[in-house]
Amino acid sequence: TPDLKDRKVVVYGLAKSGLAAIRLLKAKGAQVTALDARTEEALGETARELKGQGVTLVTGPTPPGLLESQQLVVVSPGVPLALPEIQKARAAGVPVWGEVELAWRYLSHLPFIGITGTNGKSTTTALTGELFSRSGRRTFVGGNLGRPLAEAALSPGEWDALVVELSSFQLEGIDGLRPRGSTILNLTPDHIDRYASHEAYGEAKARIFRNQAQGDFVVVNADDAHVLRLAEAAKVPVYGFSLTGHPVAAAPKLAGMAVAQPGGFRFEGAGEKGESFTLTNRALRGAHNAQNAMAAALLARLAGVAHEAVQAGLDSYPGLPHRLESVRVLDGVEWVNDSKATNVDSVLVALRAFQKDVLLIAGGKGKGAPYQPMVDEGRGKVKGVLTIGQDAGTIAQAYEGSCPVYACETLAEAVRRAKALARSGDTVLLSPACASYDQFQNFEHRGDTFKRLVGEL
Ligand code: ADP
Repeated sequence: TPDLKDRKVVVYGLAKSGLAAIRLLKAKGAQVTALDARTEEALGETARELKGQGVTLVTGPTPPGLLESQQLVVVSPGVPLALPEIQKARAAGVPVWGEVELAWRYLSHLPFIGITGTNGKSTTTALTGELFSRSGRRTFVGGNLGRPLAEAALSPGEWDALVVELSSFQLEGIDGLRPRGSTILNLTPDHIDRYASHEAYGEAKARIFRNQAQGDFVVVNADDAHVLRLAEAAKVPVYGFSLTGHPVAAAPKLAGMAVAQPGGFRFEGAGEKGESFTLTNRALRGAHNAQNAMAAALLARLAGVAHEAVQAGLDSYPGLPHRLESVRVLDGVEWVNDSKATNVDSVLVALRAFQKDVLLIAGGKGKGAPYQPMVDEGRGKVKGVLTIGQDAGTIAQAYEGSCPVYACETLAEAVRRAKALARSGDTVLLSPACASYDQFQNFEHRGDTFKRLVGEL
């Protein structure tokens, strides 16, 4: 545990996790300087609050020499470590930690489950938290999702276990952090803006394994060749989860595996041989959620959570809002809010979770990727598309000749039209394939609007 009393610490980047780090550092008696590239005016209320707490606030370009004069620099995930001033501080021997690393230093006595990947992090984190909680462990669930880890570090005595979502940016800022159990769920091209290559992105994710040692374990997606390749660097037992039961070629030796089977999944291999679980929770429908559920169940069982608690948690998991969220069944029609689907890949994943009779509401601020894969995936099951927002025309073109398209402009109109079109047994699915900014503040606002409109039907 670091002793930061009267130590000079800069916190670089004043968003949610930076502010949480400042609260923790102040509680530990550090002399905190808060640094942000934005102007004081742009920081607004935050600037006033920090000054009120006796924090030195520095805005705009980083003053030369500031970071080198500190005893610790804490960086927010939004601040690239490649910045020259950060490189200089490191060269001068100043430790540079992410907020997660700082927090972990006060929590290292607790079992830590770290969850990363391109997709499914939040779902798997929330679900793993549910499984742990069902076993009676007082479980902190947060990190990249929800509450920053620094909040847990303010009161370590409140927790028995930590289940933490870690983005690749957060993983860049770890140093000693050692998860008891870690997982990489999958890797698809993402954040090309910040990483030089897919390899570099993978390497950032693989940092999750680097401090693991005897007694720890790794869980990986055995259907994902890139993830398996990264897992070869792990020094601890590696467990896989698979939809097929046949890991893709070049797998490292797996200590055990979770394999999907009709209605659930089973464990094969050391320790858990023969255990099986049912997966009937509507909040976990779809093959992608079966993967998330297998990952969560392995993490929990390997960390000592009882089988019954895992099964109970799989059954009671309430789901996260805006991810295939069942809003209402009205006259036999199910209304589903998947507003988080801001790209075409997410819509594919959503469509695979349904067998037939989907009325799809899609559109918004497009990201330039072709819509054709959505059309192909929906063939025979999407019976109509209701288009909204800026990219409505492009989506309509893609679906031409495949199924009826209803141009709606607004979400309110789409809900109205869908109500008139839908027959008992149909699903109305809002899975937009687009960002929301043309008509909404963010995807949450879009999903909440949908829920309100559906509630008013
Ligand atoms: P993240 O926190 O990584 O963004 P979420 O759990 O919030 O992940 O899910 C975001 C979206 O990613 C979901 O709406 C779904 O479309 C997709 N998704 C979730 N889990 C998986 C998975 N295991 N594999 C592929 N896609 C997934």
